[in-house]
Amino acid sequence: MKHTLPKLPYSFNALEPYIDAKTMEVHYTKHHQAYLDKFNAVLEKYPHLQDRPAEDILANLKNLAVDEADRNTIRNHGGGYVNHNLYWSIMAPQKEIDQRLVEQINGEFGSVDEFKKKFTEEATKHFGSGWTWLVRKPDGKLAVYSLLNQDSPLTQGDTPIMAIDLWEHAYYLKYQNRRADYINAWWNVLKLV
Ligand code: MN
Repeated sequence: MKHTLPKLPYSFNALEPYIDAKTMEVHYTKHHQAYLDKFNAVLEKYPHLQDRPAEDILANLKNLAVDEADRNTIRNHGGGYVNHNLYWSIMAPQKEIDQRLVEQINGEFGSVDEFKKKFTEEATKHFGSGWTWLVRKPDGKLAVYSLLNQDSPLTQGDTPIMAIDLWEHAYYLKYQNRRADYINAWWNVLKLV
């Protein structure tokens, strides 16, 4: 069974002016689609993996019985597939605050503002392509960190909660070199907090 693109929960222009419609369209129909296609293509060689959830495959990446080159393809394109699934799902034109998450953030970071400051700093200082993550560790605690490329926190045993895509394709049409402006604007369409 092939993995499929999730339906976008809003229109391409729904996150304007913070994320422009053209970026959304290209990002979803070209970039996300390409990660998905290459993920499905590599899985064709491994029938025993085809019915496993993508998240489960990434969580077990180190132990999969696959060629090393294919493990890398799964890391990059399987990661790209699941990371973008999350990215679309945590954004919205209107806030849908997750009160339990806010309470945990208040407990561990002091306040939502302190958390946003830490997350923004982490994203701003990240060099090159990648993502900044809020994850839940196996012990239930929250953590903020960045990973390169399409590496998923699932691969290191953490559960992704939210993430910002720091690849240039996520913002370059509108923001060009002003990545900090994109990061600051993104909080307006992050629905959870
Ligand atoms: Mn992307």
